Amino acid sequence: MKISPDSHNKILPGSTLGMLGGGQLGRMFTIAARTMGYEVAVLDPDKASPAGKLATKHLCADYSDQSALDEIANSCDAVTTEFENVPASTLDALARTCPVRPGAQAVTITQDRIHEKNFLKDNGFPTAPFAVIHSLDNLKSAIKTIGAPAILKVSRFGYDGKGQFSIKAERDADKGWETLKGEACVLEQRMPLDIEVSVVLARGLDGEVMTYPVAENIHEEGILDVSVVPARINKALETKVTSMATKIANALDYVGVMAVEFFISNGELLVNEIAPRPHNSGHYTLDACVTDQFEQQVRAICGLPLGDTRLLSPVVMINMLGDIWHGGHAPKWQKLLDHPNVKLHLYGKHVARLGRKMGHFNVLASNIDDALNLANKLKDQLSQAD
Ligand code: ATP
Ligand code: MG
Repeated sequence: MKISPDSHNKILPGSTLGMLGGGQLGRMFTIAARTMGYEVAVLDPDKASPAGKLATKHLCADYSDQSALDEIANSCDAVTTEFENVPASTLDALARTCPVRPGAQAVTITQDRIHEKNFLKDNGFPTAPFAVIHSLDNLKSAIKTIGAPAILKVSRFGYDGKGQFSIKAERDADKGWETLKGEACVLEQRMPLDIEVSVVLARGLDGEVMTYPVAENIHEEGILDVSVVPARINKALETKVTSMATKIANALDYVGVMAVEFFISNGELLVNEIAPRPHNSGHYTLDACVTDQFEQQVRAICGLPLGDTRLLSPVVMINMLGDIWHGGHAPKWQKLLDHPNVKLHLYGKHVARLGRKMGHFNVLASNIDDALNLANKLKDQLSQAD
């Protein structure tokens, strides 16, 4: 049931929040929202969607299904998304009836690498050298100007390193263009990376921004593997990263939770990409911050004051992919549960596929070295088949 916002436009517990997308990010949002007394309606075409199972209502339909969208519009007090691929037209249509946060404009920019890279460039944010590619000829000449090695990335629908092709030399152009099926792409110079970091932040309706501590991220085959917080970077760089992320959120006139991924290449800070939603590298906040990123998403979209983002403990987050479900058997959770400062999060996915994000765990300790040592030991134990 829709409840009118209070006199200050705050959407309060008892109201219904709409979530477009039912994956793990939608699930953790649903948990936070329901804990706070909100109802949640999830739209996701997958019957077994992780968020759908915990929602007040799961609308099992496509993102362009008109009757499902009508139901969301008529029953929800605010709507948000958990992934960037919801069509902008859907967000625009919903926005006629209820607040949609973040709005179609910010999602349109961040769901398409070409728009995103041009937005960053036009607003003076540094990125790796890139070129927009619409044809094989474009690609051939861009390899000459950008240089190899480079990475060809599809403009839309890429995630976890999917939709990318590594260009090692000019002769890889045909193969790359064919592999990515002639879709619009960007070609990016492959940068030497000192370290990768990210910042999750929230921007409220009034433009207030709260940033979380910078996370240091380690990827394995294009997929986030480990986040270490606080990141092992100096204070000056940390301030620069945080301030650049804040400026990006302001330039997008963003409302909600978002993340900015950065490269640090030969000491220089470069923006990699923007996610218009909570982020995998922010899962540490669930156990290590005063307010986690999902409660913060609820607060931001409901027009509430943003929560305190303070870090309460050094923390290491380890992603668990389907790869460690050997022969379909779940890993030995006891290895994690034996430790009082290790926190297990599973997403309720029944089918474990290679590369599929099944869950994560957070290791809290009084310093990063201890947290990393224990996290790595547990990671090894979990991945062993027996
Ligand atoms: P996700 O959405 O999961 O973050 P994605 O598919 O959007 O992933 P990117 O963030 O573009 O992919 O790339 C994944 C990883 O590949 C990066 O975090 C980085 O480790 C590496 N990578 C991507 N682009 C470059 C680059 N230009 N130079 C060096 N490494 C890169
Ligand atoms: Mg990325």
